[in-house]
Amino acid sequence: MKKNIETAPEKCTECMCCQLICSLTYTGAFNPERARIVIDPPREITFTDECVSGCTLCTQYCVYGAITKKSGV
Ligand code: SF4
Ligand code: SF4
Repeated sequence: MKKNIETAPEKCTECMCCQLICSLTYTGAFNPERARIVIDPPREITFTDECVSGCTLCTQYCVYGAITKKSGV
């Protein structure tokens, strides 16, 4: 469980924007399979062990409110 990101899997549309920005930023490629956020049916959102501590970059690219930065963390 990632401490500084709130997930609302029921709002996720599987648009992959979060995965694309994560993989581009940390691996240099637009490749959802290399993202550190995992979108799993049925609508589960998890983070890999490689997810960078303190990072909340992907939340800035989710327009559906499925991942949001927790305040005060
Ligand atoms: S918090 Fe950062 S490292 Fe983790 S999945 Fe989102 S963009 Fe990737
Ligand atoms: S950006 Fe938001 S809606 Fe799109 S796949 Fe990621 S969590 Fe789901």
